[in-house]
Amino acid sequence: MELSEEDQATRVFLRIFPKKRVRISTKCTNCLKCLEVCPTGAIYLKNGKLLVEVKKCVACYACVITCPEKAITIEWFDGRLEEVEVEDNI
Ligand code: SF4
Ligand code: SF4
Repeated sequence: MELSEEDQATRVFLRIFPKKRVRISTKCTNCLKCLEVCPTGAIYLKNGKLLVEVKKCVACYACVITCPEKAITIEWFDGRLEEVEVEDNI
């Protein structure tokens, strides 16, 4: 799967302004393909639940490209919100 133009733009943007959120939607089927491809170990399982440790994420988008359900989105956020280390499933 190729990245959408929007994802490509966000990836470039995140290199410059590396504040981000990683969201895993309810479309997730727990196939764990994203966990296998994540190069930094940012995606992990806790009590059977898929979680992302945002500080470890380098916005490589491997998980976004790999997810068969298109369940993962990465977005920049401006820091006015409190930074969260672990983004729960939504
Ligand atoms: S690859 Fe997609 S569907 Fe599979 S576990 Fe990750 S988020 Fe869920
Ligand atoms: S974008 Fe890359 S580093 Fe971040 S969670 Fe996905 S695979 Fe891991």
